[in-house]
Amino acid sequence: MANNPSKLIEYVRIKDYDSRYRADIHDDTYFGFPVGPILEAEQALLSGAKNTVAYFSMEYGLATNIYNVFKSALPLKSDNRLSDNEIFSNDRIADYLFSLKIDSALDLPIYSGGLGVLAGDTVKTAADLKIPLAAVGILWNKGYFKQRFWFKFGQLPEEMRWDPATFPGLIPLEDKIKLQLRQRDIYLRLWKYYIFSKDKDFAVPLILLDSNVEENDESARKLTDKLYKSDDVDGRLLQRLILGMGGMIALEALGYKLKLYHLNEGHAAFAFVQKAGQMSPEKYEETKKLFCYTCHTPVPAGHDRFSLSDLERVMKPEDTEIVKKFGMEGRDGDVLNLTILAMNTSRSINAVSQKHGDVMKLQFPAYSGRIQAITNGVHSSTWMSGPISKLLDSYQQVIGDFHSDPTLLKNVLKLKGDPDFRKALWLTHQENKSALVKFLDRWRIREDVLTICWARRIAAYKRPSLIFQDIERLKDMANRIGPIQILYAGKAHPNDSLAFTYINDIMNSIDKADGAEGNLKILMLENYDIYIAKMLVSCVDVWLNNPLPPYEASGTSGMKAIANGVLQLSTLDGWVVEAADKPIGKFFGYKDTGEAFSDGMVLRFEEDSKALYASLEEMMSSYYEISKNGVINTSSPWIDMMMECISEAAFFNTYRMVQEYRQKVWNF
Ligand SMILES: *Cc1c(COP(=O)(O)O)cnc(C)c1O
Repeated sequence: MANNPSKLIEYVRIKDYDSRYRADIHDDTYFGFPVGPILEAEQALLSGAKNTVAYFSMEYGLATNIYNVFKSALPLKSDNRLSDNEIFSNDRIADYLFSLKIDSALDLPIYSGGLGVLAGDTVKTAADLKIPLAAVGILWNKGYFKQRFWFKFGQLPEEMRWDPATFPGLIPLEDKIKLQLRQRDIYLRLWKYYIFSKDKDFAVPLILLDSNVEENDESARKLTDKLYKSDDVDGRLLQRLILGMGGMIALEALGYKLKLYHLNEGHAAFAFVQKAGQMSPEKYEETKKLFCYTCHTPVPAGHDRFSLSDLERVMKPEDTEIVKKFGMEGRDGDVLNLTILAMNTSRSINAVSQKHGDVMKLQFPAYSGRIQAITNGVHSSTWMSGPISKLLDSYQQVIGDFHSDPTLLKNVLKLKGDPDFRKALWLTHQENKSALVKFLDRWRIREDVLTICWARRIAAYKRPSLIFQDIERLKDMANRIGPIQILYAGKAHPNDSLAFTYINDIMNSIDKADGAEGNLKILMLENYDIYIAKMLVSCVDVWLNNPLPPYEASGTSGMKAIANGVLQLSTLDGWVVEAADKPIGKFFGYKDTGEAFSDGMVLRFEEDSKALYASLEEMMSSYYEISKNGVINTSSPWIDMMMECISEAAFFNTYRMVQEYRQKVWNF
């Protein structure tokens, strides 16, 4: 295949090529990566090869600063670098004098949390498996938001700035498209970003829609500013119309011939409206066969809803007619529920864990026969740390090439009787931990102290403050059994005032947690992101996850931790239910009995925190048996559990997940 840039430029009409991109895209290279795989992927999509898929998602967490990092000839702009973060801890002196130095590029800032990371891990896996897939999303000009701590009073959301025009690997296209609405048109610039496979031999184009163009008026230019934030209902609706209908128009404008449209969450449900709008009503049934829908929301209140009058004000009458036909709920049928629209207009509906599948069937009994469950996963090449990966590589004769086939990680259990491996695994974990100790050196974190982490989006149902219900008990445990270090991180959505109070709660608890002679150290890290996540999931001893069942559809952060041999301390919800019979840690707390959601959420702080402390005590005792006076007890049951964790990563990864999508949803 001819790998010259003129061929690439013929396929991908790059805006400002001569003035800006010539230095980064030339001969055979694209920001330091080979051009050939891009051409191959583009050709497959343009020619309508077998099994082409379009994938729609509101957000993408691609880990662009830690995996397949593009290089640019331009120096990295300061706006495209991560900033130093503050820490709030009970080691106060360090907080006042130092901030956490982070020297890394910014991750493409178009995600907020787990949903985006899942989308990113999915498209990376599609690239690894050479599936011709085109991903569609939005270029959020101001990202999500930057979290700033406000002394100990909570979080102050700050607007974030980044520069798409100099972001390595991201290119604007000449193409602009037009989304026609009732009273106005919205123009959208298309951008492209290529997600390469781990072997750099295939690529997935991600098409990002951007309303910040001169053809639009001021208000329309801001529609693609901030993820999950708009000034009003119209803004929220327009963002979804941009993703669904705009995304569909973009795929057509680019000439991609696609066999299937996969909607990652209901945000993109209007894609069907765009497609069906080109057909006569007799063709609607046939059109539905092109759509597949993945639901990520277990909570009824979590589904996107819009009133009919809002739709009628914004959308073209003929488009509103299609929505009315397929998406309405409520006694008078005057509320659009995007979940209903997506379910009624797709050939396949799936939940993201077995438990979530059960919950969804209860919630939507009329659809229960059509709801399947495909448990989420994580992209192991992104989330497994370098040292663990290297250790397992050195045992490839037993384990096999787990990079190409993570299901082989099961074979780690064959090494259970090998004291050399057991010792090496422990030492490798300690090597990871020492990187964390170095990262947090000002806070005098210790390598020989049990370290627990809770890090994810701060939302009420995730119960971030559960472990702080009884600080005196924590102190007593730390003094009696052995010291504890607790790391915290997470952003609260700026409009979620309840979540905001949790950050405040946690900070107050940290403030109160002194007087344990240094045996209890708690740090809360500012501005949680993928970069910090990668460090935490591989460098701590215990991953704490305590959502209130059954509110967690899946959860994925624990899957990243098990890939690194990090033990779980978790309630039984989401993916964890499927691993409950495996010795990968301790499970505790309230068990959901399968009733439908009650009106108010009862958080069960009292009973579940007690159960948490009891489980933690057991884990602490076991942890402090591993190494005594510098001698490692290689037969420690803790090391068995670490191996069980890695072995479970054979299932909880996106290779297994994407293969399941192929078999059960995409049918190829
Ligand atoms: C994996 C990940 C999440 C998801 O965490 P859960 O515990 O599954 O909710 C959120 N944010 C970031 C940055 C992540 O990497």
